[in-house]
Amino acid sequence: MAISDFERPLDSVAGQSVEGALGAASQDVVWNHDHVLDLDDFSYEEIESVITLAGKMREVLDRRIARAPILRGFTMINLFFEPSTRTRASFELAGKVLGADVISVSANTSSVVKGESLIDTVKTLSAMTADAIVMRHGMSGAPYLASKYTRASVINAGDGSHAHPTQALLDIYTLKQRLGDLKDKKIVMVGDISHSRVARSGMWGFSAMGANVVLCGPPTLLPSGFLVNERPEHARSALPDVDIETNIDVAIKDADVVMALRLQKERQQGGLLPSLHEYSRLYQVTSERLSKAKSNHILMHPGPKNEGIEIGGDVASGSNSTIEEQVTNGVAVRMALLYLIAQKNQREN
Ligand code: ASP
Ligand code: ASP
Repeated sequence: MAISDFERPLDSVAGQSVEGALGAASQDVVWNHDHVLDLDDFSYEEIESVITLAGKMREVLDRRIARAPILRGFTMINLFFEPSTRTRASFELAGKVLGADVISVSANTSSVVKGESLIDTVKTLSAMTADAIVMRHGMSGAPYLASKYTRASVINAGDGSHAHPTQALLDIYTLKQRLGDLKDKKIVMVGDISHSRVARSGMWGFSAMGANVVLCGPPTLLPSGFLVNERPEHARSALPDVDIETNIDVAIKDADVVMALRLQKERQQGGLLPSLHEYSRLYQVTSERLSKAKSNHILMHPGPKNEGIEIGGDVASGSNSTIEEQVTNGVAVRMALLYLIAQKNQREN
């Protein structure tokens, strides 16, 4: 590290103070959320606001000393009831880069194993004046329940098969970096759609940006309830309108983006697949299959990936793959969300 690195002001992005740079970017910010639970209530403008700020945060991350302590005095608690390395580390880093106090609690070391209820745990953490609680839970809906019992902002880091909004936002940011605009782009998600919270939040986010979403997988992992006109009247708006295709070669044809999804074995009942070998033969995203997509297509995966099952090892590390960029962009998007939440709380207090 050069001595000159220490001489550069920490609070600066591209020569401007961080607050100045973000201030300029925040002028047109559209943001009205106390919590980030899913993207079903996010407008195009709100998603754009997150992405613009994430771009500024990415500039901070790309500096040799990635620190911009603009969230000093902000306390964020990571409350993880399900195993995770990458999402948890990503949130921790996002908070630390911005100078927040970050505390991580995992369910097996907390009083949860002693029988404390989710509501009690959340109330206790809230009484310690947490500003944000980042929560991952195996049950769909758990962060919604938590948000009713705390004054802190709850950020959903994945709940059961239901939602993973920060993943969808980082995917949108990554795609916009490469494609500019998502309008009318064909985005194909392949794999275990039924159990995927990444697919559900992605459907909302990509649709809000004007993309055409195609879901692909074996019929047992792709229930017909995903098709709008096969849903009962009262459930028509439960998910956005998407296309469904069980033949992967048809689905991938002319795609701009292909996202491979992991088989969520931890959430599957038995009997959904004849065998892993059969699944990978019929649904693995391979170079041969990708040759039917647009030549400049983008290949994504939220991780953790199982090479040789849902994705071929050669394409995962090929030049069309954005898998590593997605990880770095995840930190930038989470920084942007923490900043937006802190700003809103400050305005209201
Ligand atoms: N499902 C986990 C996550 O998104 C995977 C991991 O721990 O790498 O954090
Ligand atoms: N990391 C993502 C999630 O937590 C995807 C996965 O686990 O397959 O949902």
